[in-house]
Amino acid sequence: MSTRVRLVALVGLAALLGLTAWRLLGSGGHSVLYDFSGPTMGTTYSVKIETQRLSTERHDEIASLIRSTLDDVDGRMSTYDTASELSRFNAHRSTTPFPVSESVYEVFALAKRISKKTGGAFDITVGPLVNLWGFGPIVTSGSAPDANVVAHLRAYVGWDKIVLDSVALTLTKLYPETVADLSAIAKGYAVDRVADKLVAEGISTFLVEVGGELKASGVKHTGDQWRVAIEEPDTAARRVFGTVELEDAAIATSGDYRNFDDRDGVMYSHIINPRTGRPNPYRGLLVSVIDGSAAVADAWATALTVLGSEDGQRLAEREGIAALFVTRTDSGYESWATTAFRERTLMSNHDDPG
Ligand code: AMP
Ligand code: MG
Repeated sequence: MSTRVRLVALVGLAALLGLTAWRLLGSGGHSVLYDFSGPTMGTTYSVKIETQRLSTERHDEIASLIRSTLDDVDGRMSTYDTASELSRFNAHRSTTPFPVSESVYEVFALAKRISKKTGGAFDITVGPLVNLWGFGPIVTSGSAPDANVVAHLRAYVGWDKIVLDSVALTLTKLYPETVADLSAIAKGYAVDRVADKLVAEGISTFLVEVGGELKASGVKHTGDQWRVAIEEPDTAARRVFGTVELEDAAIATSGDYRNFDDRDGVMYSHIINPRTGRPNPYRGLLVSVIDGSAAVADAWATALTVLGSEDGQRLAEREGIAALFVTRTDSGYESWATTAFRERTLMSNHDDPG
């Protein structure tokens, strides 16, 4: 079984188990931990809430609020759903302005900001290259693509080839062929939206997770913060590298070890380096980023993975990003954390990060 298939099977199992929300009585008998989970955005979500016991009605209300918030983001930003706002933008093969909703605009604007800050390492227009290498909705064969095809696609790949108008709320392509893929930021954005909805409902102690991107709020009744595990960047085993405690913060993780395939005998990750038009080879790198916003953390985690350990660490430190890099070594794994990461969290693991 290929790694990709195994991952899908794991996700499927988690979704199945999570479909029934379960409850756990807190030690004081007053606080109850509720877990709402299921499939979304081609992955799974889990929302844990610690609160007073909820009536069945209130429980169902919160469950459907979470679902509708996730469905809304997915319905707008999916590249798999041809009717989504993003798919319609991609199908708009024209250089005339394309009106979008506030949320889609917000994600494009944030993506652009991070593209600028990362020298183009983060680039939502790499979709055609993702597909060309066989990592997107359009699956291709198992050999490396022709260099001429890569060069041809690169003519209209580039974050600066979509012009944003914040007043008219439009996106304008400089080339009709330019398309966008929000996979590296939309899960984080969905986490932020669900968290906002919970806060608006007066819920303050929760952990929201979509496809591994998380946001924690409040402190549990035991006085403990939410504890989140960071796994080792291993292609097969699922082992915990360390844990971080979060309070009112989001953490997102990216890496070259999760989704990869071989092309002519080389293991490539699904992360495309926009500078070369090629995917990064598998090296065993994981990058976790902590930020107040899960969307920002999501985008930065991907960007720093694109840049790799050396350039990524330099940029993250310079920009004051709270980032942890876990890399594979001959004897195991080692980690390195930026000053901001060390200041924000007390991480427990077998190494002392830094
Ligand atoms: P993530 O899991 O958040 O790191 O996102 C990975 C996904 O982002 C990939 O599967 C691609 O669809 C997309 N992607 C690949 N390379 C880039 C890049 N350089 N910038 C933005 N998105 C990318
Ligand atoms: Mg990301």
